Amino acid sequence: MTSTQDVLPLILDEVEVTAVERLSPSFVRVELGGPALAEFGVDGPLYDQRIKLVFPNDEGRLPSFEGVDDSWWDTWLQIPESERGHMRTYTVRAVRGAGPDTRLVVDFVLHLEPGSTGPGATWAARANQSDRLIIVAPRKGMKYGGIEFDPGTARELLLVADETAVPAVCSILEDLPARARGAALLEVPESADVREQSGPAGVDVVWLPRDGAPLGSLLDAEVRRRLGTTVEPVRVDEAEVDPDLWETPTYSSSGEDVDTPVATVGHDLDGLYAWIAGESAVVTSMRRLLVNGLGMDRRQVAFMGYWRRGVAMRS
Ligand SMILES: Cc1cc2nc3c(=O)[nH]c(=O)nc-3n(C[C@H](O)[C@H](O)[C@H](O)COP(=O)(O)OP(=O)(O)OC[C@H]3O[C@@H](n4cnc5c(N)ncnc54)[C@H](O)[C@@H]3O)c2cc1C
Repeated sequence: MTSTQDVLPLILDEVEVTAVERLSPSFVRVELGGPALAEFGVDGPLYDQRIKLVFPNDEGRLPSFEGVDDSWWDTWLQIPESERGHMRTYTVRAVRGAGPDTRLVVDFVLHLEPGSTGPGATWAARANQSDRLIIVAPRKGMKYGGIEFDPGTARELLLVADETAVPAVCSILEDLPARARGAALLEVPESADVREQSGPAGVDVVWLPRDGAPLGSLLDAEVRRRLGTTVEPVRVDEAEVDPDLWETPTYSSSGEDVDTPVATVGHDLDGLYAWIAGESAVVTSMRRLLVNGLGMDRRQVAFMGYWRRGVAMRS
């Protein structure tokens, strides 16, 4: 594949697997390398920097982006579905090395149950050195976006994640200043997925292994406990859940007005910034609790649906 390095304001190129490490029953860590990554870079900390990966099609082939320009996305969509491979979103868990030896680390969740697995998890479960993928990632000195963590002047943080957002929260924890305070709540499928995680001394890192409990139930209970609320759990009608839920201070997938200030001041949650990501129904119910139930200013919260139960993501 011809490199697109000289054409696009982002990296869109093939990379190869340089190392694979099984971290725990539900996570596999994959290191990606390739000449294109010499140009990888963001302006400041990585925090929850997202990237796109294109996995091979069912015949094991990657699409070609040869000669593409700014309309690469439309070009990719015009390739027949059976040929274009599968694009999914992941987080840069870490960057290793520099220059042509730059490596990006991605932690994949293995959800391999029949009927609820997809090309990303399947690829990760079988990943071997030299396997190839296409990456879409920020290029040094160019505007790319893809970082949502933005606590501003908040005095306290509440980071809430299911397993798919654990890589993002771990990266955020490593990038926070030493003075940061708050809590990171990490729900994972089982006890054996709990790992050591460094971060500022003032941020409690709380692992919540489900070990069979319903998805999101431990996060819900822990958030309520910490905020000291007895507001009833919010039932979310499955049909109402937006698989692409994305409500941040600067963007609303439901079309809410993000510019109008919300008149909720003077309650106990002033000074708190919450970053919440995971399965869309779980995140929707957390949103109703914080914004509708507790009156938290939506400008103090980012709610992101990272996946949706029963739905294959489109990119
Ligand atoms: C900004 C962002 C960052 C992300 N970062 C990461 C990351 O670093 N690591 C990571 O592993 N994921 C991450 N995700 C989530 C990932 O993109 C989705 O889980 C995606 O659905 C995986 O694609 P797939 O091909 O495996 O499954 P899909 O083809 O999308 O879905 C197929 C089936 O699998 C189910 N499914 C998808 N994910 C899960 C899951 N985790 N557990 C159980 N069932 C599931 C779906 O409900 C569906 O039924 C991120 C998502 C976003 C938006």
